[in-house]
Amino acid sequence: MKPAPFTYHRPHTVEAATSLLREHGDDAKILAGGQSLLPIMNMRLAEPAHLVDITAIGELRQHTETATGVRYGAATTHMHIEDGLVPDVTLGLLPHAAHGIGYRAIRNRGTIGGSLAHSDSSAEWPTVLSALDAVVHTASADGGRRIPVRELLRGFFTTALDPAELIVAVEVPRLPEGTRWGLYKMARKPGEFAESLAVALRHGDELQLWLGAARDVPIRLTGTENLIGDRAGGSPDLSVADLVETVGADTGADGHSRQLHAAAVHRALRATERQDSHV
Ligand SMILES: Cc1cc2nc3c(=O)[nH]c(=O)nc-3n(C[C@H](O)[C@H](O)[C@H](O)COP(=O)(O)OP(=O)(O)OC[C@H]3O[C@@H](n4cnc5c(N)ncnc54)[C@H](O)[C@@H]3O)c2cc1C
Repeated sequence: MKPAPFTYHRPHTVEAATSLLREHGDDAKILAGGQSLLPIMNMRLAEPAHLVDITAIGELRQHTETATGVRYGAATTHMHIEDGLVPDVTLGLLPHAAHGIGYRAIRNRGTIGGSLAHSDSSAEWPTVLSALDAVVHTASADGGRRIPVRELLRGFFTTALDPAELIVAVEVPRLPEGTRWGLYKMARKPGEFAESLAVALRHGDELQLWLGAARDVPIRLTGTENLIGDRAGGSPDLSVADLVETVGADTGADGHSRQLHAAAVHRALRATERQDSHV
């Protein structure tokens, strides 16, 4: 299928983009990599009268590294992160996550800002960047905001962004040295969205567990964290069966989904125990 007719705009500055967004309001859509928006338009599930392509805005492709983290321009592609063309302050977690997104052709065009704005809980960035407590910076004709990813994501395809608000950057905090991470994606086959996506971060006795694809937004598994924290020495002896009940309580899932999420969490936890290799 083909999209409904639209007027194409390709501004070169953030100011020009936000002014177009204000001018056209709900009739306009931002186009970044197009890897989610264009299929939706082709299926006529969205019929914006104006498309504001942000890929010619140089500022959105830049990055800045500081002592506390990295600020990535919103149009940084999954490929840039996967291939190490931008700095990584997460001890390899971001490149590993990027590598698992779709296929290479999708990673060449899809962007970190577009993935967050799309807010699909089975996608990599919403869960990984929630776990890392990343923050987005936005711009609009009325000014800018700083929104933690955990507050940005409000539901399936729903965010805290106003229609005329553009994500300009994503700020990722530096993981403390010695942090061990595990990420496990369950998908029917490589290149597909996750059916379960577990992220575990361990630093000393501190453990954080996040899960995507279980609800409409990524969730933190606090009950499971407590179960593991109560075990002396962490979780080496825990089996999937030990986790099923508490993961079920954390997610509200039952039956097959509960088993699937418990297995993903178990594998992410196991990956944190292998310091030099991650699943
Ligand atoms: C076959 C296929 C498989 C895929 N598999 C995976 C997968 O396994 N894991 C995964 O994570 N993703 C997957 N994706 C999605 C892919 O990662 C997309 O790149 C991503 O979801 C959207 O990024 P984009 O830059 O292409 O955004 P676009 O498609 O251009 O835009 C998506 C939405 O975000 C809005 N938007 C874009 N940029 C901004 C911005 N800077 N500020 C505000 N709003 C903005 C757009 O208006 C639109 O509503 C897959 C896609 C396809 C087609």
